[in-house]
Amino acid sequence: GWSTFDNLTSLIMQNFVDYGGINAGQDHVAADSTQESSSSPKKKVVILGTGWAGMSFLKNLDSKLYDVRIVSPRNYFVFTPLLPSVTVGTVEARSITEPIRRIIRKKEAQFHEAECIKIDVDKKQITCKDVSDITFKGKEEFDLPYDYLVIAVGATSNTFGTKGVMEYCHFLKDIEDAERIREHIINCFETASLPHLSSEERRKLLNFVVVGGGPTGVEFSAELHDLVHEDLLCLYPHLKDNVKITLVQSGDHILNTFDRRISQFAEKKFSRDGVHVKIGCRVLEVTDEVIRFKAKDTGKLVDVPYGMIVWSTGISTRPVIADFMKQIGQEKHRVLATDEWLRVKNCEGVYALGDCASVEQRKIVEDIAYIFKQADKDNNSLLSAAEFVETMEEVRLRYPQIDLYMDHKHMKGVIGLLDEALNSGDQDNAQLDLEHFSAAMSKVDSLMKCMPATAQVAAQQGTYLAHSFNHIARHKPAEGPKRIRAEGRHRFNPFCYRHLGQFAPLGGEQAAAELPGDWVSIGRSTMWLWYSVYASKQVSWRTRALVMFDWTKRFVFGRDSSRM
Ligand code: FAD
Repeated sequence: GWSTFDNLTSLIMQNFVDYGGINAGQDHVAADSTQESSSSPKKKVVILGTGWAGMSFLKNLDSKLYDVRIVSPRNYFVFTPLLPSVTVGTVEARSITEPIRRIIRKKEAQFHEAECIKIDVDKKQITCKDVSDITFKGKEEFDLPYDYLVIAVGATSNTFGTKGVMEYCHFLKDIEDAERIREHIINCFETASLPHLSSEERRKLLNFVVVGGGPTGVEFSAELHDLVHEDLLCLYPHLKDNVKITLVQSGDHILNTFDRRISQFAEKKFSRDGVHVKIGCRVLEVTDEVIRFKAKDTGKLVDVPYGMIVWSTGISTRPVIADFMKQIGQEKHRVLATDEWLRVKNCEGVYALGDCASVEQRKIVEDIAYIFKQADKDNNSLLSAAEFVETMEEVRLRYPQIDLYMDHKHMKGVIGLLDEALNSGDQDNAQLDLEHFSAAMSKVDSLMKCMPATAQVAAQQGTYLAHSFNHIARHKPAEGPKRIRAEGRHRFNPFCYRHLGQFAPLGGEQAAAELPGDWVSIGRSTMWLWYSVYASKQVSWRTRALVMFDWTKRFVFGRDSSRM
């Protein structure tokens, strides 16, 4: 059947649990009762995470309507798209971070710097751990009850279980990672300048390997190339012939989620710039001395000595989420599955958004197939073109987000398949047979499930959920659920992702952009577009000013190469 938002309303209106604090275990203590508002009639919303999803939810939530708690081991927000620029000192780390206490100062919300280590859906409480350097003995852990839990803890780097990656590679997920990389690069150049090293040792130290040809790996390689060629080679001219940057990609192309024109341009540009792109290579193992690849086509194994490896091959689930998924029977999923209203299935009052979650769209696809089957019933497994159009209209009414997927470039492929199916039938009747249709639908299914793990998705989900929470709290339960359509469907539309395009900075003041409507732009002017978009997207005037100042400073004086 059709899931209704009335369920959500009733869930949200149920169960009021006080922030009383529950003792559980030796190191557990109740949250300080002086901070609690046990008599507050407001529902308790606990937000896990201070990243894109959590902060977008918080910023848009009317915090007067709820008793809001934020829990995160990080007391700041990071503007992740500029992290690659921090690794080479194009912008400074503090220019892209905003303290949470500044964000919540005008909100009625409390922040707790701690990590959630357990979610108990039966007791409706979470267990948190103080992971800072300063802790009270025996008081490291505490519990927090919730009415609604918003899980936005992001993800960790995926190593695919490759041996040695954890021990010897750098990741690029957080500000500390970026600062470590920056220090390591300069360290390699300084050590390589010591007089007693052989040229082989110098070459090893200055061999930088980037694993993963996605947007982060490509952007980091481009930034590193700029740092080396615009700044470091002027300061270390004697090392000119020893520096090598290698980008390793297991797929057939780099930037393979982008338009083909962009990935081709990037590959050509890197080859002109001298960034070695190794396509179709899988990393088998990393040791303290070498990284071992296997070329997919020849099967040949190659050991390459390295000075630094940056590993950027996608994301994986955090341990707390993996435990939670086991608890609720989702261990077979890759990430936490939610429905289109971002509710975690079978967990009352629990929502998940951002990189730690994935909207399970299978239901939509099943429903679409059902509608088609209904239309097809009297027609001996064939739909006429008119019925197809009519049925598609029905689908659009029920699922407005389908249109947005249709706009997306991948969806165009699906439409093509549908067209083909439509044309493959009897031309006179322009019929669509269901076999072709179900092939197309299974493609829709896989496309819808893999909504990209990006800041764009996370931020839009946060805004959507906050607006839903605001709406629900502002409508008294006595008013009953509002029905927007005669037959009583949802009170809210399901979450609907709007793809606004994506950028790939490619170094040398050039960038590529893929914008809605299949519009591709590449070159210097795109880089200026990139500057203006990222300046405007900053979360505060303070970070905006700092980032623009850093860019100007870099244009005038170059990057700072001191190792702090
Ligand atoms: P995050 O932003 O990672 O936030 C997770 C939060 O949860 C953090 O505050 C963390 O401290 C907290 N947390 C972790 N564990 C716990 C716990 N146990 N308890 C409580 N809190 C916890 N996307 C784009 O759209 N465009 C880009 O250009 C782009 N560039 C990127 C560049 C880099 C280098 C990286 C790493 C990512 C980039 N992304 C980009 C992707 C984007 O950053 C992520 O998709 C986005 O951060 C996801 O948001 P999130 O809120 O789910 O997770």
